[in-house]
Amino acid sequence: MDRRHLLKNSLALGGLVSLGARTTTAQTPRVPLMDRPFNLAPIRAHVDRIYDIKCCIRPFRTKGPRLDVEQIGDAMVVHNYGHSGAGWSLSWGSADMQVQKAMSRSPKKIAVIGCGIIGLTSALMAQRAGAEVTIYTKELLQRTRSVRANGSWTPASHMALASDAPANLGDIWERMTRISWKNLRPYIGMAGNPLAFADHYYLSDMPFDAPRPPPPPGPVPIPEYYELGDRIGDITPKLQVLTPEIHPFPVKYARRTTRLFFNFSEYGHLLVSDFFAAGGKIVMRDFHSPGELAQLPEKVIINCPGYAAHDWWKDKAMVPHRGQTEWLIPQPEVNYGLTYRNIEALSKSDGIMMIDTGIPGALPKGYGNSNEVPDRAEAEAAVRVMEELYSRFPANPV
Ligand SMILES: Cc1cc2nc3c(=O)[nH]c(=O)nc-3n(C[C@H](O)[C@H](O)[C@H](O)COP(=O)(O)OP(=O)(O)OC[C@H]3O[C@@H](n4cnc5c(N)ncnc54)[C@H](O)[C@@H]3O)c2cc1C
Repeated sequence: MDRRHLLKNSLALGGLVSLGARTTTAQTPRVPLMDRPFNLAPIRAHVDRIYDIKCCIRPFRTKGPRLDVEQIGDAMVVHNYGHSGAGWSLSWGSADMQVQKAMSRSPKKIAVIGCGIIGLTSALMAQRAGAEVTIYTKELLQRTRSVRANGSWTPASHMALASDAPANLGDIWERMTRISWKNLRPYIGMAGNPLAFADHYYLSDMPFDAPRPPPPPGPVPIPEYYELGDRIGDITPKLQVLTPEIHPFPVKYARRTTRLFFNFSEYGHLLVSDFFAAGGKIVMRDFHSPGELAQLPEKVIINCPGYAAHDWWKDKAMVPHRGQTEWLIPQPEVNYGLTYRNIEALSKSDGIMMIDTGIPGALPKGYGNSNEVPDRAEAEAAVRVMEELYSRFPANPV
């Protein structure tokens, strides 16, 4: 049996069967056998398998994350919010930088405001630096906006507007990103997969660089984001081009990379357990004005309210950026993600997550929108895109 037969049989054995049109040898990039996709189980994309729809606002800040220090009464407030579509990714790096500022006063006790991913990692970092930490929060992690995200390693997602960002944002961002990457490392390979890697396929019926019609003009100008450049190429797997004879998907054009992602339940549970194990306390509290922070017994405070800073801190640089994810019944046998016609799908421990990422070049989907009511029609439309893709496979593959 030659190599090609071996490959074909592996794909047929319980996985997707390649349907693609044949390309000429001249067009076929060299993809070594070790890089070829084997045994990809299909996603069961049907609207009746949607078991949850989550919707929330990204804490997008036109100036980039707020990381300055402010004095309120006799309390030092270290801000740590506005991480936009990258809070899960940047949390450890941002926490490390802000805890160093907080520890400059050598406090015995530190208060952290907020129990989203930014608050939790700030609290854990402060404990690691030797402080006794109390989190004051309106909601526990399970009810925060954080757990309504996509949850992939996307450190550069919508960081700031080019017009508003400070000149050194790129350097700060790179530092945050690299510290985060190092701090995420110990969670990889743990029982329950709090963090995991998965191959991600980008699929298209037309060439990826085919010209697209310009988006119709809308009431809101299309934002020009701050350019971060290729600063973390050394820790980012490259995109591979896969031709139809190599990949099994029923489309002409495919690319693949490998991405890190967060399983919220397992990772969140670990972080909260670690916080309590290190003696941390949580106090349920709803603040209404910054001045209330001066009443806390702790005089060093790390402030992590996320998008709520828009109203609570009257931070007008915060722009709402709505996002919605739909969740289909988990399929542990699916071990990859894919993006097709702006819909991203990712197999996580608690379900197949789908999200409409919007048309490239147009106003980002949900930009300027603060509506957090789940939209069932949007969820079904996303699932139907994937349903149509998978229905192109033969019903009885041989
Ligand atoms: C659709 C979508 C997809 C996303 N995908 C990704 C992704 O793939 N990768 C990634 O890295 N990031 C992603 N993000 C971004 C990420 O989710 C956010 O950056 C992150 O969750 C922000 O965390 P946070 O802790 O700052 O805010 P939050 O999760 O909002 O937490 C804020 C905390 O502050 C508390 N709080 C607020 N106001 C008060 C008050 N007045 N009194 C007391 N407590 C208060 C809240 O109760 C909460 O505990 C996505 C976001 C969305 C919406």
